[in-house]
Amino acid sequence: MAKKQFKAESKKLLDMMINSIYTHKEIFMREIISNASDALDKLYYKSLESGDTGIQRKDFVISITPDREARTLTISDNGIGMTKEELEDNLGTIARSGSLEFKEDHANPEADSAAAKADKATDIIGQFGVGFYSAFMVADHITVTSRAYGSDEAFVWESEGADGFTVEPAEKSSNGTDITIHLKEDKDGENYSRFLEEFTIRDLVKKYSDYIRYPIQMMVTKTRPKQDQNPDDVDPQKGPEMETYQQLDTLNTMEPIWKRQKSKVSKEDYNEYYKSKFNDYLDPAKVIRTSVEGVSSYTALLFIPSHVPYDYYTKDYEKGLKLYSSGVLIMDKCKDLLPDYFNFVRGLVDSQDLSLNISREMLQQDRQLKNIAKNLEKKIKRELAAWMKDDREEYEKFYENFGRQMVYGLYENFGMNKDVLADLVLFYSSSEKKKVSLDEYISRMGEDQKYIYYAPGETVDKIDMLPQIKAAKEKGLEILYFTDEIDEFAIKMIRDYKDKEFRSISEEDMRENQTEEEKEALKKAEEENRSMLDFVKETLGDRVSDVVFSNRLADAPASLSTKGEISLEMEKTINRMPSEQMVKAEKVLELNPEHKVIQKLKEECASEETKEDAAAVSRLLYDQAMLISGISIDDPLQMSEDINRLIAR
Ligand code: ADP
Repeated sequence: MAKKQFKAESKKLLDMMINSIYTHKEIFMREIISNASDALDKLYYKSLESGDTGIQRKDFVISITPDREARTLTISDNGIGMTKEELEDNLGTIARSGSLEFKEDHANPEADSAAAKADKATDIIGQFGVGFYSAFMVADHITVTSRAYGSDEAFVWESEGADGFTVEPAEKSSNGTDITIHLKEDKDGENYSRFLEEFTIRDLVKKYSDYIRYPIQMMVTKTRPKQDQNPDDVDPQKGPEMETYQQLDTLNTMEPIWKRQKSKVSKEDYNEYYKSKFNDYLDPAKVIRTSVEGVSSYTALLFIPSHVPYDYYTKDYEKGLKLYSSGVLIMDKCKDLLPDYFNFVRGLVDSQDLSLNISREMLQQDRQLKNIAKNLEKKIKRELAAWMKDDREEYEKFYENFGRQMVYGLYENFGMNKDVLADLVLFYSSSEKKKVSLDEYISRMGEDQKYIYYAPGETVDKIDMLPQIKAAKEKGLEILYFTDEIDEFAIKMIRDYKDKEFRSISEEDMRENQTEEEKEALKKAEEENRSMLDFVKETLGDRVSDVVFSNRLADAPASLSTKGEISLEMEKTINRMPSEQMVKAEKVLELNPEHKVIQKLKEECASEETKEDAAAVSRLLYDQAMLISGISIDDPLQMSEDINRLIAR
């Protein structure tokens, strides 16, 4: 029979697996066992749905059979099984579409050293949970015999790796799947034979699959005193004569990790559990375990990943926690348990108060579930707040990964979640030169400082270039840098923090900050220069709503600020969104009366002969202020003409 080819990207991945020098080859065992456990879960749901009482959980079993002569390891389950089509689809391609393309895009093109290749494989194994394929790290040939539940036909899938696979009819007496791994020969210091040793298998099951809810069994050889011996015949020197016998042993305790006594579970146990259950290749940054007795009793085991999942910022990412009812999985991703702004949390909830047969629709309405969700939200918030206080460095790492989501949460629902989130967000501070919390900012505010000041911009460096920043720094004001588009929107939504309002450094009414004398002096200067200010305003037309003097520009000749609700950054962001509606920030061009350019401008706009030059200068002042604010200019051609005009004169 002709071999079917793996899909192109599967083939690349297989090549990588086969040649992997990945040090944790043993994880194939965990992957295969976890698939078997899933297959049993699926059969269980199906029997609930169809009301098939012939299916009983107590009969579910996963068995491991090593065969030293044949060098094979067979892992069997009596779960849902696969049809011919499912064998082809599930094992002939990698389900997660685009996973490999993604990887290649991000791979370093020069990274073809063995170590780099291994790294790549680790990443793939970890990130995409390419479970079944990992068996090719230890196998040179795999056969999968399967019979789907409800079918009377069985099929065998066979493959020796990247050159394809075959699927043919087979014999199998009941539903389920047998995966037979033909181990590679031991060579180049690699010991594959160890996977046939009882000791190794026992060890690996304990390490990776102990919590699996179904018995994982293996026929083991034991010794005992010969049964038919007469105790009187036993030689006291040698002891009784021994015999060996076979016994089916259950290798796992089946006790869910969250039901074990806290003191008996180590950090490593949690880490291993997390990695195997949530398809991550790195330890979690934080583990939260909590039990609540009350109106809704439950245990939750939550994890915060130490890195951003590869699909986190795509629409494919699904939030949610696994939901158990007294230890039995009833939903794999219950999204109602987590608010969007904590969508990075992984983990599970186990409650005895939920019915086993509850449907998804009913679950959404469930009061118990709503209670649990509300409690979890509070718990997560408390844990994060404590984390920020107790281990700032780790918290900052976490914040790099997921902080944006929480700022987004501030913005959502009209600032409704302010109480939960405002204590948890961090922004870069001009004076501390690192990220600070709003509380920390407030604690440093001077007595007469009314507002929390911020400056929006693309990056810290670019914000530093704003003339207003320099002046504000000179005044000793601390400013929060909003480098993410969402920051300013979020802050506008919540308006204040602990009764302190937020104020943008580029808002025009920053002038409020001036002393009476300063205000008077500026006003007077404006009166004296009215005709110049009018000239600039006329030249710029509706690009600006006002042209004023300012004494907060340090050594820059001009700068932009805004009046009203919409800032320059917000205008930029909103207008980039695909919508008909365009918004316009009310821009105010601030001029520095002390600056030489402004003094020259005054002379030039007063004389008919140099009026054209003065117009060019006015436009250039506006353009440079735009560019420094990080906004592209409307008319670069005009700008070039203006520059050339001034150079050539
Ligand atoms: P994953 O388990 O992450 O989806 P795998 O490559 O490990 O990816 O498995 C691919 C698919 O093959 C599974 O999603 C499942 O549908 C099917 N499969 C694997 N092992 C079994 C099994 N023992 N019984 C039934 N189906 C299985």
